[in-house]
Amino acid sequence: MCYMNNITYFVEECTTITPKEVISIATPTIGKKYRTDIDCWFENEDRNIVSVSVNGKEPQMITLEFIEIHYGQMVYFNCGKCSSRSAKLYLPPQGIEFQCRECGKLKYRLSAINSKSIAGMAIYRAVKINMIMDARATMNRIIYRGQYTHRYNRFLKKCKSVGLHEVVTNAQRLLKTIRI
Ligand SMILES: [Zn+2]
Repeated sequence: MCYMNNITYFVEECTTITPKEVISIATPTIGKKYRTDIDCWFENEDRNIVSVSVNGKEPQMITLEFIEIHYGQMVYFNCGKCSSRSAKLYLPPQGIEFQCRECGKLKYRLSAINSKSIAGMAIYRAVKINMIMDARATMNRIIYRGQYTHRYNRFLKKCKSVGLHEVVTNAQRLLKTIRI
């Protein structure tokens, strides 16, 4: 629990899990194990209770909620503390259980920086660029049917907003080259 010693942790310091990740790890047939730090397995036939173990430590049982939407199904976690639906759960450093952002009283690192001060502005920009580049690193495919994917376009927009104009120009140039 991240209230230990009254320490407030940042989201960025936590180990996070998404329903998609735990389901994929708990379903060997998917065969896509893109995390080595966690292990997951289903606890019941209905496959809505999953145990999650971080680095071989004592597992935590987490309930999944399947929500029907008009074009399929969405999966959420049910936070064990407040029972609210959550698309991501967080395990703070030294923490013993995953919980939602509210229960963990977790803050984003960016929100703790005074973006009005000169030094603050520089840090804000550096942290933001880091976040943008981290997101970029998780994209496998950036072009679909001769166009940049929505995700990549969002990335480019964010690059523009922090002044990474070169990235945007290069991307435009690349697309032009492909189309010729
Ligand atoms: Zn909660």
